Amino acid sequence: MATSDKKPVVVVDAKDDTPADINIPDNYVQHTLKTQKALPPFQWSNWRSELSWLSVTILGVTPVIGLIGAYFTKLRWETLLFSIFYYFFTGLGITAGYHRLWAHRSYNASLPLQYLLAFAGAGAVEGSIKWWSRGHRAHHRYTDTDLDPYNAHKGFFYSHIGWMLVKPRRRPGVADVSDLSKNPVVRWQHKYYLQLILLAGFIVPTIIPWLLWGDARGGYVYAGVLRLCFVHHSTFCVNSLAHWLGETPFDDKHTPKDHFATALVTIGEGYHNFHHQFPMDYRNAIKWYQYDPTKWFIWACQQIGLASHLKVFPENEVRKGQLTMELKKLKETQERLAWPTNSDDLPVISWDSFQEQAAKRPLILISGFIHDVSNFIDEHPGGPHLLIKMIGKDATTAFFGGVYDHSNAAHNLLAMKRVGVLHGGMPQGVDDKVVPPSQRLKIARYTELSSPYNSSTAYSDGEGILG
Ligand SMILES: [Zn+2]
Ligand SMILES: [Zn+2]
Repeated sequence: MATSDKKPVVVVDAKDDTPADINIPDNYVQHTLKTQKALPPFQWSNWRSELSWLSVTILGVTPVIGLIGAYFTKLRWETLLFSIFYYFFTGLGITAGYHRLWAHRSYNASLPLQYLLAFAGAGAVEGSIKWWSRGHRAHHRYTDTDLDPYNAHKGFFYSHIGWMLVKPRRRPGVADVSDLSKNPVVRWQHKYYLQLILLAGFIVPTIIPWLLWGDARGGYVYAGVLRLCFVHHSTFCVNSLAHWLGETPFDDKHTPKDHFATALVTIGEGYHNFHHQFPMDYRNAIKWYQYDPTKWFIWACQQIGLASHLKVFPENEVRKGQLTMELKKLKETQERLAWPTNSDDLPVISWDSFQEQAAKRPLILISGFIHDVSNFIDEHPGGPHLLIKMIGKDATTAFFGGVYDHSNAAHNLLAMKRVGVLHGGMPQGVDDKVVPPSQRLKIARYTELSSPYNSSTAYSDGEGILG
């Protein structure tokens, strides 16, 4: 079916129960990036019309009120402790609720837990579950492209907060949230979102310190406003810091990275390289000693019957990712070393020619290879006489135990001195003597191997039964 070039692909989010991506073309990503018009770049000339004033106000005014308030308000230790608690409470609303439960469906939560997380998440004032998850699913689906709403390739600032301060330059790539549209808790939160942010974000953290130790003002300033700034920037770090700082132990195709520091400031969302590879996994950290309080919280909820069906990606597949990255590093190490010349690249010399040339320089035959030992005679640990004795001769037996069973290191070094191959002299069935120990295990790209996968003569009878 031909798609008219003039007609942009329109992705409809509207119908709640129809998956938004059911009718997208197969070339959706390329087609959209090519045909969908992006807003002009944000510049000095257009900042007034292009800023997203609501976000600028929320994200800009909150820290100012918080700092001024803190300057004029004494911090009581009870209020400090409560603020820290409330930071974790609302932060978990985002990490355990918005992120791992609703955006990724990495576990099932009972209704009471869902309401608690929806309330806590509202207190983080980052948009409704539905809006947030819609963007986050697009982030995973189109990571590092312009269809990713917080594309890390646009810089640290942009992925942290910049993407919210300006009007979206383009619509995020399509991502289905029809499952969330059906969820009564998500609908409830979406419907009463404004009331809920006032209640969870400001009223509750003011009332609790007021009722319990008479510090309403401290509660508002520290547990309300300043705590909100911390939760904001803490969770924003998942899009910025987690795509910028650290290692890539599972895959390096895209920007997500693992780092303890990121985990520390994001309530455990810092093992982001793992997370982007295995987003359905309820964990971010897979080792017990890594800091992932969100995982611990979900696990604890399971213990008391509030959560179930915690998803864990098959360990075997996780290990494959790690192994691939380890091999990649080892291959880089391998490529930094000098290796013996391949037999295909060496001249093939007849026995007579070998004799003739050995009269002029010290050539020794071992395992079918001719070696020039001129710069080694004086360094030979067994003494020069043993080498001199073998010039122009086959020293295979002597080298491999006849006179002395040489070390692997000696074999590796010997291979570096190859200058030719004796015609008809390659011994059969003695690979361990032909291939130096350092090359018996070698990391090779699949295209460098001769395997049925890249052979045009691969066997197929067309009638096989899939196992
Ligand atoms: Zn990410
Ligand atoms: Zn995610």
